[in-house]
Amino acid sequence: MDERELILELFPGTPFDLLPPGEVLYYREGEQVVIEEPPFRAVFEPVERPALPRPGVCEACGRLLGGAFARFFRVTPPGSRVVRYVLLCEDTEACRERARPEVLRRILRKGILP
Ligand SMILES: [Zn+2]
Repeated sequence: MDERELILELFPGTPFDLLPPGEVLYYREGEQVVIEEPPFRAVFEPVERPALPRPGVCEACGRLLGGAFARFFRVTPPGSRVVRYVLLCEDTEACRERARPEVLRRILRKGILP
């Protein structure tokens, strides 16, 4: 059991920001994108096309993408009315290879903290 698991076992309600970093998961679930650092999880809904009019930079991996290869996703943190948007690669698997965990953690934070 690592430090993070131990803290979660002893103090299950520990806020995200107070926990030591764990393994960040980043994957596609149908059309949705999920970023997860158990027990925290954010589901990002794709924003309808049209494709982006100009290239944009993926927030996860930092790659400059043409409009057809990137997509906006939106998330509303629980208990919040704020809708947040992130631009991500359409190809989540390739993006995951490039994305650094601390950057994914920052995106996850957008999805779980009001
Ligand atoms: Zn990317």
